Amino acid sequence: MLILHRLAGLRRGFQEIVDASADSNADDGHDPEGSTIAYEHSQLAALIQQTGRHLDDIEDARMRLVGRPYGLCETCHRPISVARLDARPVARDCIGCAAIAR
Ligand SMILES: [Zn+2]
Repeated sequence: MLILHRLAGLRRGFQEIVDASADSNADDGHDPEGSTIAYEHSQLAALIQQTGRHLDDIEDARMRLVGRPYGLCETCHRPISVARLDARPVARDCIGCAAIAR
């Protein structure tokens, strides 16, 4: 899930900028670094938004292909746990059903 890693990286970068500007106690309008931080901030916000839209597009395409929402178990139709999807993004069934199937 390359795009998810990219989104996570962007969000981390965004948070670092938010933290850094909070720490510096600086007024963006008067600090010479402020305009740079504000610019990076808006660039990252735009990238995060764009990446989110890509994910929505991917999910839409996936739904058209397989006709079911991502993250639902194919067997019991209940949500697959986030931990399982993190470990195995392509998991098609929940841990309970996977254990029974084995
Ligand atoms: Zn299941």
